[in-house]
Amino acid sequence: MFGVGCLVQALSLAVGFVIGALGGAAGIVLGIIVALAGLGWGSQLAVVWLCGNCKNKLASRNVKVCPTCSARLFRNRREWEAAFSAARAASGQTGRAT
Ligand SMILES: [Zn+2]
Repeated sequence: MFGVGCLVQALSLAVGFVIGALGGAAGIVLGIIVALAGLGWGSQLAVVWLCGNCKNKLASRNVKVCPTCSARLFRNRREWEAAFSAARAASGQTGRAT
């Protein structure tokens, strides 16, 4: 399948090039800005979210529970650590104090 992010990147490069070619010095600056903005946007779209447990694709980064293996998912390390320390405290295992 042709990626949406890749398409956005290609289009923004083309648009940026056209603006730069038509607009003179100011057009070149504007064209570079358009191309860079498109590249950043495209790479955002190109990010594919995978389940850390079963590696299946997820619909978005906001998915909390994997639809395939029912694993709990966390968006970032801080969220994961908060849930992990809460689970550890609940289980009553103190482990080695640091
Ligand atoms: Zn999964």
